Amino acid sequence: MKRKFFLDTYGSPLYLYDNSILCDRCQQMKQFQEELERALLGIKVRMHYSTKANNNPAILKSVRDAGLNVDCMSPLELQINKECGFTKERMLYVCNNISQDEMIMVYESGLLICLDSVSQVHTWGQLYPGSSIMVRVNPGVLGVGHSQKVITSGSKTKFGVSEKQLNKLFAVAEQYNLRIIGTHQHLGSLFLNDKIPNYITGVKAGLEIVKKYFKNVEIVDLGGGFGVPYKPNEQPLDLSLLVSELIPILKDFVQSYPSVKEFKFEPGRYIPCESGTLLGTVTAVEKRNRTWWIGTDIGMNVLVRPSMYGSYHEISFEYVNINSKEVTANICGNVCESGDILGKRRRVRLPEVGDTVIVHNAGAYGYSMASNYTGRSKPAEVMIYADGEAAPAYKVIRQREKISDMMRQIEWN
Ligand SMILES: *Cc1c(COP(=O)(O)O)cnc(C)c1O
Repeated sequence: MKRKFFLDTYGSPLYLYDNSILCDRCQQMKQFQEELERALLGIKVRMHYSTKANNNPAILKSVRDAGLNVDCMSPLELQINKECGFTKERMLYVCNNISQDEMIMVYESGLLICLDSVSQVHTWGQLYPGSSIMVRVNPGVLGVGHSQKVITSGSKTKFGVSEKQLNKLFAVAEQYNLRIIGTHQHLGSLFLNDKIPNYITGVKAGLEIVKKYFKNVEIVDLGGGFGVPYKPNEQPLDLSLLVSELIPILKDFVQSYPSVKEFKFEPGRYIPCESGTLLGTVTAVEKRNRTWWIGTDIGMNVLVRPSMYGSYHEISFEYVNINSKEVTANICGNVCESGDILGKRRRVRLPEVGDTVIVHNAGAYGYSMASNYTGRSKPAEVMIYADGEAAPAYKVIRQREKISDMMRQIEWN
C-alpha cells in the first residue's frame, strides 16, 4: 500500500508503526530474559521497557502482552502505564531530581522508587522513614552513548551516587532507617556490537561496587542502551553474544553475593524504534549555489534527533514520477532555524513537490520528543496491524493535535 494513502487520509506529517516489527522486538527481549533466567537458576530477570522512548498505549500494550515490565519517570508515564493494565509490581519509578509532591505520588501508587542522589534519598527519608528504595549508582567508568548528551555515566554526568559519596549515602539511609534493596546503573543510550565490551566493563564495575559496599541488596538493575542500526552499514545488536558475555559475569556475582534475587534491564529504543517510520510531504525542491535543498514538512518539532544529537536517519521517497535524476541533497524541515536539517548530503533521486518523504527507524524518541515549537501541532500516530494489499488493518492510535487544542490553554486576559 502506498504511504501517501495515510497522509491523504490522516494528514501530513504522520508517525506510522508496524505492529509485527514491534511484537518481534518484544519477543526478542522476552527471549533475552528467559535465556538469562535459564542460566541463572532461581534468579529472576525482569525487562523494564523505558516508557520515555515512546509512550503510546498501543506500544505499551504490546510490551504488556509480551510479559515485559516498564520503567516510568513522570506522573503521566505512570498514569498511562496504569491505564494499560500494568500492576505496581510491574512498574519501576526511575527518576532524577523530582519534587516532594512527586515522591508522594509515587509512594501512594505503591511503586518501588529508584532515587539517584544522596540529596533525593534525604528528602525521601524525611517523608517515608523505614521504607525500601533502590539507588542509582554511577559506576565511574565512562558511559556508552551515541552522543555526549546521552552518556549517563562517568565523572561528567548528573546521574547517580558515585563511589566517593557512598559513605554519605549509607549515613543518610541509616538516619532514616531506609532499606536499600536494589542498585541501579545506566551507562547511556545506544550501544551496538562494537561497544558491547564497554557495556560489559560497566556491568563489571557496577557489580564490584555492589559487592564491595552494599549489604543484602536483592535487586541489581543494569540499565538499558540496547542499540539499533540507524545507518545502512550497521549490524543489529547481537543479543546472543550479549547474553553469552553476561552469563559468566552474573553467575559469578550470584555465587559471591547470595542476597541477590533479581536482575533488571531497561531496554528503551530497542523495542519501538524499528517499527516506526515518519511520513511527510516534500514542499519545496530548490537548487541554491550548486546545492540541492529538499524542503519538507518534517521540522525539528516533529523529529528533533537530527538537530539535537546530529543523529542519522535513513530517508527515502515515494515518487509520483519515477524517472528523476540522482543528486546529492540536504533534506530539511519547515522551522526557521538553520539547524533544522533531517539529512545532510544524501544521494537521492530528486523528488517533486508533493512526493512523500519517509524517515526510517523513527519509532523511538520521535513522537515522545516532539514539541509545538513555532506553533505547529504534534502529528497523528497510526499503527498497521496487518500490511496486506487486500485488507490492510490499521488504526489511528493518537489523533493529530488541533490548533484549538493548543489555543485552549492560553489565558487571554
Ligand atoms: C532512557 C533510559 C533507558 C532507555 O535507554 P535506551 O537507550 O532507549 O535503551 C533506560 N534506563 C534509564 C534510566 C533511562 O533513563
